[in-house]
Amino acid sequence: MGDRGILIVVSGFSGAGKGTVMKELIGRYDNYALSVSATTRQPREGEADGREYFFKTTQEFEKMIAKEELIEYARYVDNYYGTPRAYVEEKLSEGRDVILEIEIQGALKVKEKFPETVLLFLMPPSAQVLKERLTGRGTETEEAVRFRMKRACEEAEGMDRYDYLVINDKLSDCVEEVHRIIRGEHRKSFRNQGLIEKIRKELMELDK
Ligand code: ADP
Ligand code: 5GP
Repeated sequence: MGDRGILIVVSGFSGAGKGTVMKELIGRYDNYALSVSATTRQPREGEADGREYFFKTTQEFEKMIAKEELIEYARYVDNYYGTPRAYVEEKLSEGRDVILEIEIQGALKVKEKFPETVLLFLMPPSAQVLKERLTGRGTETEEAVRFRMKRACEEAEGMDRYDYLVINDKLSDCVEEVHRIIRGEHRKSFRNQGLIEKIRKELMELDK
């Protein structure tokens, strides 16, 4: 059996470029699986059910909570967002590195439940660039942009609880940096107990 995949959480202020970076990462490399969350927010133009999110009513979402079908969930700007458990477990056991693109409360809950999770925080080069990206995306009303910028101030408080900070300035460089970080994580000794045991055994055999 191959090694188990790594669980990676990517957070960052709304508009930092999480969706864009993850799409590019998955397009370039085939070891990743992106978890699709459930949410009660309305689909944006161009979003499809089951692709960007599983769009649920509040009642449906609360049922998923009650049946413990979510690894974590959180409320964000008046809506529920949560990570379905089944897909994540299936892909990790197939050896794929599973990416959760979730906000900070959810990220910290996942880390608490699964301490070997890698927490990655994606940053814009500056607050001004963040505002421009958020406005430029054209998916939010002016009020929603204001809400999201306010929320960014709150989220900045928790940034130092993440394992890595990555700046999304030039898209391509950012994607490569994220990929290198995850490759590096695979080399950590605690993730390679099998290798350690194998070489120890070989050494003992030769020493006989
Ligand atoms: P998030 O998923 O973090 O909310 P998006 O991926 O939707 O952010 O990106 C927000 C906007 O910024 C989008 O219009 C996207 O095209 C743009 N964007 C993302 N990354 C970059 C980048 N490196 N350089 C310039 N624009 C970017
Ligand atoms: P958006 O409405 O822009 O798609 O997402 C709003 C915020 O919710 C983003 O920070 C996004 O990362 C986060 N989010 C998306 N899915 C989940 C999830 O399953 N759980 C949690 N906790 N946050 C999520």
